[in-house]
Amino acid sequence: MEITLTFGIAVGGIFLSLALFKIRHRIRQFLKAFLLWTNKHFVYPPLLRRHRYLGPWSRADVLLQSVYFAMNVLCLIYKVSSISKAGLRAANLSLINLIPLLSGPSFNVLADLLGISLSKFRRFHRLAGVMSFVLLAFHVITVVVSRTSFSLHVPENLWGLIGGSSLCLLMLSLPLLRELSYEVFIRTHQALAVLAAYSIWRHLVSQPLLPRIYIYIFAGICLLTFLLQYGFIIWRNKAVGRSFPRASITHMNDTVKIRLTLSRPLKVKAGQHIGLWTPVSFWSFWQSHPFVVTSWSEGEQSALDLFIEPRQGFTQKLLEYSKSNRPPRLALFSGPHGTSAPVGEYETVLMVASGFGIAAQLSYLRQLIYGYNACKTRTRRVHLVWQLETLDIGIAVESLLNDALADDTLDEGYILSISIYIQSGKADRVPFGRRAIVYSGTADLTTILQEEAEGKYIKRVQEETEERGGMLVMVSGTDQLRDQLRDEVRGYLDDKVSLWELEYQPA
Ligand SMILES: Cc1cc2nc3c(=O)[nH]c(=O)nc-3n(C[C@H](O)[C@H](O)[C@H](O)COP(=O)(O)OP(=O)(O)OC[C@H]3O[C@@H](n4cnc5c(N)ncnc54)[C@H](O)[C@@H]3O)c2cc1C
Repeated sequence: MEITLTFGIAVGGIFLSLALFKIRHRIRQFLKAFLLWTNKHFVYPPLLRRHRYLGPWSRADVLLQSVYFAMNVLCLIYKVSSISKAGLRAANLSLINLIPLLSGPSFNVLADLLGISLSKFRRFHRLAGVMSFVLLAFHVITVVVSRTSFSLHVPENLWGLIGGSSLCLLMLSLPLLRELSYEVFIRTHQALAVLAAYSIWRHLVSQPLLPRIYIYIFAGICLLTFLLQYGFIIWRNKAVGRSFPRASITHMNDTVKIRLTLSRPLKVKAGQHIGLWTPVSFWSFWQSHPFVVTSWSEGEQSALDLFIEPRQGFTQKLLEYSKSNRPPRLALFSGPHGTSAPVGEYETVLMVASGFGIAAQLSYLRQLIYGYNACKTRTRRVHLVWQLETLDIGIAVESLLNDALADDTLDEGYILSISIYIQSGKADRVPFGRRAIVYSGTADLTTILQEEAEGKYIKRVQEETEERGGMLVMVSGTDQLRDQLRDEVRGYLDDKVSLWELEYQPA
């Protein structure tokens, strides 16, 4: 490049940077306004409400999915000269869409690498899976239409058929298997995915490097994430001279509590979860389950607390084990996984949980109380609203809640309120543990949200001039509760209110 041109670009760059720096506040304002507009018109309004297998989909979800679909179609038809060429292109595109699906042994690691939540990654996984399947179906149709014979004695054809069938089985068997047994579903899914990848490679073995390279890329990424995941697991579970982690499993009112004593101290952000493996029965040898860490510390923790709802499988075995009063059990874990909400940036934090969803909120409660006492947070009001069917879970959680409130030296209930609503309760406005008040019935979320959004419980020195801070509504509850809150929060977007759905949502 001409030296004078380089000089010109450098001078122009400096001028542009200075000009942008000068208007940086306007740019920030514009971005904020744009984000608000997007939230109002695309992210919060639902286009499709929740159904058994579909939804809820917001306008943004549908738009993004359509763009993704359109990009694939464009790549498929752009300057394609014949239907058989389009078929070949569809096969390549199908492979490219498969790469992110097959890039790691577990969702957690991939979601962590991308810095997105598990639920978002799951959605993306499903979407890419459907896209890949549709493209593969197109490839098969074009092959069938354009070829006179499809002999299965030709290895290329045979492996193509096996690969296609395994992808087909992957798609069709899933909802059914998942309902039957999660473990059978996940292992079948993984086995079929490996079979599909291997068959596709065999199908392409006599082809030029270009389509095969996608398989090599996927294998490379998969190996890397596999090594990363298991490397971290080994490192975190065994410190030199220390024993493996031990799980002390106890129960109360048919709930399970675990204290996991670690081999090596670990920093866990509020809201993060671990994948727990502990051999409490024969089948549990092959299983690892995600649980949110309910304890929190600003530094590293030497023991992690978990609060668990006994379901039908592994968690039921945990309950049985806890009742047999046996010594702490060997336990291994992966993680910590997942994202953490930036709670400290908000003036008000409204935490809404139903049932065991409280597990996902406890670490945030601790973090907020610590942050307030240490003047490390902007938060001036925290309200935990907990909806229960009976007080049984409440009693089981009381000690965890009190632990979370151990540093609570806050003023007379203005900063922190805990409201517990018991569906089948009779007593109203009864104090419970430290700080909490028990009400009977269902929480009136409309009024609670309105009062908190108005800042009714925040003491202000200069009522008129002070600018209101934002409010974060964090929810870990039933589908119905989440849908209701999403609708309610929509009405307060202009008041800087936003919703954060936590990674664990109880059934
Ligand atoms: C990020 C995250 C954090 C969680 N945190 C907690 C928590 O703190 N406390 C708590 O009680 N529960 C938590 N759960 C739910 C908990 O992982 C499941 O209830 C548990 O795995 C069920 O095990 P089971 O064998 O007894 O289930 P089953 O009775 O066989 O099935 C019950 C339900 O759990 C689902 N499930 C089963 N195994 C898994 C698995 N390995 N991964 C994901 N889902 C599974 C099944 O699809 C089914 O819907 C969390 C889930 C996720 C995704």
